[in-house]
Amino acid sequence: MIKGGNYLEALTCVDTVVFDKTGTLTKGIFKVSKVNTHDISKDRLIEIAALGESFSNHPIAQSIVKEYNKEIDNSRIRDYTELSGYGIKAKIDDEYVLLGNFKLMEKYNIECNEIQSVGTVIYVAVSDKYVGSIVIEDAIKEDSKEAIKKLKKLGIKNVVMLTGDNKKVAQKVGDELEIDEVYGGLLPGDKVSKVEELLNNSSRNKVAFVGDGINDAPVLARADIGIAMGGIGSDAAIEAADVVLMKDSINSLVDAII
Ligand code: ADP
Ligand code: MG
Repeated sequence: MIKGGNYLEALTCVDTVVFDKTGTLTKGIFKVSKVNTHDISKDRLIEIAALGESFSNHPIAQSIVKEYNKEIDNSRIRDYTELSGYGIKAKIDDEYVLLGNFKLMEKYNIECNEIQSVGTVIYVAVSDKYVGSIVIEDAIKEDSKEAIKKLKKLGIKNVVMLTGDNKKVAQKVGDELEIDEVYGGLLPGDKVSKVEELLNNSSRNKVAFVGDGINDAPVLARADIGIAMGGIGSDAAIEAADVVLMKDSINSLVDAII
């Protein structure tokens, strides 16, 4: 679905395509692969994480709630805040809990070491003390690699990936998909600045951004052409986008550019 004829024309002038990672190039279906505990039982860590994530619709949150696999009593969770690009802050029973990436731990001065993992790591802190981490893994969509190859054949000069996930995961996905430029560890605002840089470098041609809208609606709005994944995309994404892909596959983007 294309919102206006000018975007149809603009699509033919695209030379840079920027992708969001989670939910766009990858399935956004995470599975818990490792649990690291620090003075806490594994079951308790998962329980705290699942309670904290129960109000979030981020794919990370859904995987942790699924791993817990028990009924959640919503009345145990208060003061819930989602910190875009960082994670979650909430009060569970009587304790403040933080759940998110290493940046979140730094932001709140929680003492802990960064785990070097090719999986996405969710750090957990209770009452300002690090209690462990949960490593989760996502898979690349079956057709992402082929679609990127086709985009290059069509004359797209620069294929870029932006992600809020850690740099190791970013590089692994980037290498596997033969992406030209990979940037990890970005906050939603950093994604906007990166796209602005690319817009400046590509003055005569157009820059398209493809995302699912979770933490990237501002970038969808800022690119010359914002392209949202319609199926799993959030309402905010569909609102902010110029083009909505009805199938959540980037192969349908290739069709749109042809
Ligand atoms: P991407 O840029 O790959 O689409 P996001 O911007 O959605 O990823 O998220 C960036 C990072 O922020 C995640 O990799 C994770 O570390 C952290 N994060 C976001 N939402 C949550 C959440 N609900 N729980 C824990 N961590 C989260
Ligand atoms: Mg995303």
